[in-house]
Amino acid sequence: MGEWQFETTVTAQRKDERGHWIALQETHFYAEGGGQPADAGTIADETVQDVQQVDDVVWHLLERPLEVGTAATAQVDEASRHDHSIQHTAQHVLTAVLEDRYGIETLSFGIGPEESSLEIGTNAFDWSSVESLERDVQHLIFENRPITVHTLLDGEIDRARLRKPTDRTGMIRIVEIEGLDYNACGGTHVVSTGQLGTVHVTSVKKVRGNVRLTYVAGARALRAVQSSRDALRQVHQTLSTTNETVAARVVEERNARIEREKEVKALEARVAKAKVAAFLQEDNYVITHIGKTEGETLTTMIIERIAATGRIAVGANHTAQKLILMHDGTHDIAIGKFLKRTLDDLGIGRGGGSHKQAQARFESVLDLEKATAEVVKRLQEGVVSC
Ligand SMILES: [Zn+2]
Repeated sequence: MGEWQFETTVTAQRKDERGHWIALQETHFYAEGGGQPADAGTIADETVQDVQQVDDVVWHLLERPLEVGTAATAQVDEASRHDHSIQHTAQHVLTAVLEDRYGIETLSFGIGPEESSLEIGTNAFDWSSVESLERDVQHLIFENRPITVHTLLDGEIDRARLRKPTDRTGMIRIVEIEGLDYNACGGTHVVSTGQLGTVHVTSVKKVRGNVRLTYVAGARALRAVQSSRDALRQVHQTLSTTNETVAARVVEERNARIEREKEVKALEARVAKAKVAAFLQEDNYVITHIGKTEGETLTTMIIERIAATGRIAVGANHTAQKLILMHDGTHDIAIGKFLKRTLDDLGIGRGGGSHKQAQARFESVLDLEKATAEVVKRLQEGVVSC
């Protein structure tokens, strides 16, 4: 029994759309506030989903109600509290360093489940500033400065040293990081800066004319670095690169891909031209092109070119299991309605279109072939009365 596990009694309960809230005779759960999330844990084996303080009462949110008077064992999740204390204390250090050494004010902050964030009053903070900030913070961590909590009467506070003025009265909780910070704060903290391990900035974004930094500290920072290394290691393995060469190599690969795409497009246009030239040797009213291995864009390109010569073009693309019909608008056939009716008669595929072009998709190449044959047969027989 102690701070993490304790015996207590339910003193009040109420219900709202989020669930059942209970108050306890004694609680060690931290209620959400000051940018720090609520503690996790259990009360009588029920999971505590949220903790909120309203006036002087701390309310614990549970899925099921506990009757007033119930004696219960409560358990605060020590690991998640410790993590929150680390992220929260890191915020104190970041805010103090940013203000004292860079002259930048912290406007707002919050601890998230993955990352925490800090909105700072500047529009000029880039990655080189981040590196310098991280070095300054790491130096304070190496120095392992003690962090102490003083509960003082408002008259006993050294107001000149306060980072932010407070209008609280009565007993005030002051958190002091030796030689760095003196702040009225109700959050939870680690006992020395060394316990932060490291503070790692994960992103820098411009918002509302300010800058929003996200960061991770402690075990979260270790996980972030491990995850980045894992991602980079896979890239290195694929591209045979090193940290020094990878950025240039990725740009090179991207440029090469853009070049290849241009070449493929040019080749497709040449293939389309050649195929169409061959088709035009035939003097058919309906021309069918079957694309068994080519991409959908090439089939479409060929069909468009055939249609432009005044024929009715039928294109079947096996890779996409797609049928494309097209004419140049001079024919009296509403090709969309024609295709839809043919598919309805066959009971396969889904599609339709406009007066001069239409498309359909099929569940198998067999269905596509069946539909292609029927479409061509009907067009050639002239059994289209649209
Ligand atoms: Zn604090």
